[in-house]
Amino acid sequence: MIQKERLQKDFDAMARLTGLGEGINRLAFTDADWEGRQYIIDRMTDAGLDVELDGFGNVIGYKVGTNPDLPVVMVGSHTDSVPNGGDYDGVAGVLSAIEVVRSIIDDGFEHDHTIAVVDFMCEESSRFGAATLGSKAMRGKLTLNDLHRLVDKQGISLYDALKERKLHPDDIESMAYNQPVKAFIEMHIEQGKVLEHEQKQIGIVSGIAAPERFYVTICGNADHSGATPMNLRHDALCGASKIILGIEEVTSMQEEPPVVGTVGIAEVVPGAMNVIPGSVKLGVDIRSISKVARDSVVFLIKELIEVIAEKRGLSYTIEPIAQDHPVAMHPAMIREIEEAVKSVGIDYMTMPSGAGHDAMHWTEVAPTGMIFIPCRDGISHNPAEFAAMNDIVVGAEVLENVIKNISLVSNTLD
Ligand SMILES: [Zn+2]
Repeated sequence: MIQKERLQKDFDAMARLTGLGEGINRLAFTDADWEGRQYIIDRMTDAGLDVELDGFGNVIGYKVGTNPDLPVVMVGSHTDSVPNGGDYDGVAGVLSAIEVVRSIIDDGFEHDHTIAVVDFMCEESSRFGAATLGSKAMRGKLTLNDLHRLVDKQGISLYDALKERKLHPDDIESMAYNQPVKAFIEMHIEQGKVLEHEQKQIGIVSGIAAPERFYVTICGNADHSGATPMNLRHDALCGASKIILGIEEVTSMQEEPPVVGTVGIAEVVPGAMNVIPGSVKLGVDIRSISKVARDSVVFLIKELIEVIAEKRGLSYTIEPIAQDHPVAMHPAMIREIEEAVKSVGIDYMTMPSGAGHDAMHWTEVAPTGMIFIPCRDGISHNPAEFAAMNDIVVGAEVLENVIKNISLVSNTLD
């Protein structure tokens, strides 16, 4: 049985493992992140799991099945955070997965397939500008070049961050997870308001929207703000402002399936009151569960940038960061989760995920499913992020039912 007190204790402990600042600060590969990771390793070890650590730092705890030769049933999420993040994003999935395994052990439940609980490193893009990097490493999707190219605000490359943690960045191209996987499942807080609004305790995810991200650097002339008349200016920030509003307009026009677009970064150079902005670097994030809809919006945005730059005598460069693929969850996993929810006897709904998750990298490998639980006011990536322990317990119970059912060899997920 899922034990609420035991789970609560883990949440309380993880909430204390954080760096300086408000809320949770466990940026990937920082000391606080490493302490959080160690807590997970310790709890896995306590539960009797065989813990394996890969060259990227990902933590995999195995609860071996009666037939260890069968493909593993994988369940996981992440424990890194954004700056000033909350107690539940990612953590809810990892701690619940560990609690599920403890419960399975308490019950003496016999499962044929080995269950692999994973804490994926560097899920958040806050530090290196690209998300779900631990999953990508396990899927063999990262190159050595990527590790050098991805750099944080201090100029530390992902390569150096891995080295500093005594991990093995040089092996990145040969460290893909190569054990067969029967199914992948992740539980996560919704990070939106839909479940709360619809008064449902569980969301069964139908598909995951994925971002396309790029930097646009607009260059004009950094002239004197007093000596340069308005008609002789090439103000990069004025051009950038038109682009930002244009992105809002173009994405809003795309209705079904919806696309969302955000400019979350605007770095103005030189950034002085008496100098016309000479260049501006914008960080653009465009998402949808439909790649076709997203591609058409990105195409329109690029055309718009060209037109605005041309008209204002500005030059620009576009630097791609990430182009992840939106994915559908597997019908068999959606069905398994639905049956599990019904056996727990609670209200649920099927819904897309607007945020990206580790789960999206496993759809090509095995039938993949995701369970959402509500979070208050839809607030996430914020110290005010809150999920009720009762909802977490319900989520863990659903997760447990699914894992018990799919870890039997008789369940072929057809
Ligand atoms: Zn997350």
